[in-house]
Amino acid sequence: MPGKNLLKPDLIVAGPVSDLSFAWLKQRDIAGLILDLDDTLLALGEQMVNTRVVEWVARARLEFRLYIVSNNPNRNFIEPIALSLSLPFINRAAKPSRRALRRVLQEMQLPPERVAIVGDRLLTDVLAGNRLGLVTVLVEPPGPSRALRGSWLRAVERSFSSRMWWWPARGIPPGADLK
Ligand SMILES: [Mg+2]
Repeated sequence: MPGKNLLKPDLIVAGPVSDLSFAWLKQRDIAGLILDLDDTLLALGEQMVNTRVVEWVARARLEFRLYIVSNNPNRNFIEPIALSLSLPFINRAAKPSRRALRRVLQEMQLPPERVAIVGDRLLTDVLAGNRLGLVTVLVEPPGPSRALRGSWLRAVERSFSSRMWWWPARGIPPGADLK
C-alpha cells in the first residue's frame, strides 16, 4: 500500500460497534472480523458486554468469522467475557504489533484484505491493521465510557492522523512497539 496513511481508517463509524453495518463489510467481501475488546465491545469500567453489543455479535457471527484481539494483559478478566460471547480471543496482543493478527489470519484461513479489524484506537487497532493490509474500522466506545475517557485521546489521535498524511508508507509513530 504505497503512500497509504497508516493511521487512516478505511471506515469511521459515528457510533459504537453495534452501529457497524454489515452491508459495507459485505460489499468489500469481508469474511472475518478482528474485534478489539476494551472500549470497543466493552465499555470502560464494565464487566459485561451490553445487550446491544451482545445482539450485534449474535448477528455478526452468522456472517463473519469473529475473533477478539486485545492488548489487555489480564486473561482472567477477558476469558469469561469471551466465553459469554463464545468467541476465541488473544490477550496481551501488543497492537500495533502484527504478530497476533497474523495468527488470527492463519486460523481464519483468510487473506488480509478479507478481514477487517474493528477498534476504538488509531495508534493500536488501526495502525496494526493497516500495517498488515487489513480493512480498518474505527468505532466509538459503547455505553457510558464514551464520555468518561478517551475523548481527548481520540481528538489528539485524530488530529495526529489528519496531519500525518505525508508519512512514508512504512512510517511509524515514535515509541510504537513494532514486532
Ligand atoms: Mg480499545
